[in-house]
Amino acid sequence: MKTNGKVKLLLVLVVSIALISSIYLYKYSSRQYKEIPYKIFLAHLERGSIEEVELSDKAKLIGKLKNGESFITDNPRTENFKEQLLLHNVKVKEGETNAILGQGISFILLLAGIGVVAFMINKNNSKQAEKEMATMSKMDAEDSSSDRTTFDDVAGNEEAKESLKELVDFIKYPEKYDRYGARLPRGVLLYGPPGTGKTLLARALAGESKVPFYAVSGSDFIQVYAGLGASRIRELFKKAKEDGKSVIFIDEIDSLGKKRKGSNSHSGSEEGDRTLNALLTEMSGFKGNEGIIVVAATNRVDTLDEALLRPGRFDRQIEVGLPDVNARYSILRLHSKNKPLSKDVDLKKVALETVYFSGAKLENLMNESAMIAARKRDKHITMDHINKAYYTVLVGEEKKDRSSISMEDKEITAYHEAGHALVAKKLSKLNRVTKVSIIPSTKGMGGFSVNIPPDRMYQTKKDIITNIKIALGGRAAEEIIFGKDNITTGASSDLQKATEMTLSMIGSYGMDEEVGLINYDVVLSNNLNTDISLMERTKEMLERFYIETKEILNKNKRYLDDIADVLIEKESLNEEEINKILAN
Ligand code: ADP
Ligand code: ZN
Repeated sequence: MKTNGKVKLLLVLVVSIALISSIYLYKYSSRQYKEIPYKIFLAHLERGSIEEVELSDKAKLIGKLKNGESFITDNPRTENFKEQLLLHNVKVKEGETNAILGQGISFILLLAGIGVVAFMINKNNSKQAEKEMATMSKMDAEDSSSDRTTFDDVAGNEEAKESLKELVDFIKYPEKYDRYGARLPRGVLLYGPPGTGKTLLARALAGESKVPFYAVSGSDFIQVYAGLGASRIRELFKKAKEDGKSVIFIDEIDSLGKKRKGSNSHSGSEEGDRTLNALLTEMSGFKGNEGIIVVAATNRVDTLDEALLRPGRFDRQIEVGLPDVNARYSILRLHSKNKPLSKDVDLKKVALETVYFSGAKLENLMNESAMIAARKRDKHITMDHINKAYYTVLVGEEKKDRSSISMEDKEITAYHEAGHALVAKKLSKLNRVTKVSIIPSTKGMGGFSVNIPPDRMYQTKKDIITNIKIALGGRAAEEIIFGKDNITTGASSDLQKATEMTLSMIGSYGMDEEVGLINYDVVLSNNLNTDISLMERTKEMLERFYIETKEILNKNKRYLDDIADVLIEKESLNEEEINKILAN
């Protein structure tokens, strides 16, 4: 405790020296410039009181008013900005600005100050303080000019990229949206398995928008002193706001925003709660469209505190899934760009053999191959090297990792998912199946998504039955194709859903004439005897639904085969491709 106090004092001292000197430097270098808000700048422009403006692609621009005063303001970096200036008879100069340089130097000085502290603390060998500094330095904006990550650095993930591309315009030109009174999204949640490129995407968003990127991890906040997490969050946002526009990235948000389990269980996550509250407060504290976007990432969306998902918070949720064979091929190509591949290397084949590999694992595979080739001083990376690397990458993987999935498993999953999709399409012309995939999603085994329009307030009995049959479609397809003895455990969550829906239908919604209008939730909560055959009835109905589901699939077996075949080959199908198969 004693050394800790000393360290803290030292920290405060050095940081304040660094701060003071950097403020001084900033003042000095920009003293002849008066900072004015962009709105005021526009007013000056309209009035014709601006003499000249020095254009650059920096965050700030400087210029001179007709009365001789120099000013500095936010650079809108819009396309026709120069023309706008020229039309208002403003002299336009193009070049760098010294003030920005000064700012850069002061920033470096600040960093240096922090570096010195980190060094001293290292000497002091105080572990806790070391950890604190590590998080703090991570808070600083990462590299803002060279080596910018762009969306071209992300292969596959097309849907996620599309959604994020929209945000680039929001960040770049918030004033454009201001004019229409549009509220910009504040938080985006990227969810999906580890190594699928969530960090990469967030970085690309900052890169494409040409704004600073701040990254922290939720897990950095868990073991900190009381109240420290919250103050770090506030500091992070303060820094980001000083930059004007930026992307703030919070990895592993689930370690902050776990579902709270009742008010009386503290389970050591009080600090997490406090940090989370600070985050939510900061996010709702954005005044208008400031061009700051918070991107959070998690491997598990189901455990997140609902408070995080409410409107105005992380209300945009984007799934970042494991790549299918085509996406794997593009990722492999991307990561072999700078590598001398031998002619015998067939990346398409490698893509086929790397089912369930994440982007990170594929990158790792190519890197290992390159290292093996380099160690042997071979001229090129050959298929042999890649095969060796394949096993290196797989070693140390947990057994349950199904990277080397068998063809049988692939077939079973393909038919199972095809079953769900086909039942959905056949039960109503209006149902949309937007995606079928045999790559597991965060939600379960294979991937399958269906939209049942129209979006209505109430569900009819028919809708519920449709949903039950869609859920049973997976198991039904397995039984039809592979036989009664070869059905799998893959349907367990489907059966859970189907049972729940059936039980609610007859026990809560009074939709079965035999059971009547009685609501069993009430019966149970009043401890009344419930041996009335609710369970029997549920079982009976489920069986009937199952038989009807099998009938649908048997009648359309040709389509079931077609969908499954294409799934085995391509691993995932979009809506268009599904509809094309069914139109045949
Ligand atoms: P996550 O944040 O989802 O855990 P990362 O973004 O940290 O994953 O990915 C780690 C690395 O894996 C990246 O730096 C990149 O080299 C590689 N990678 C992952 N996904 C992709 C992708 N879609 N395209 C290209 N490279 C990828
Ligand atoms: Zn299923």
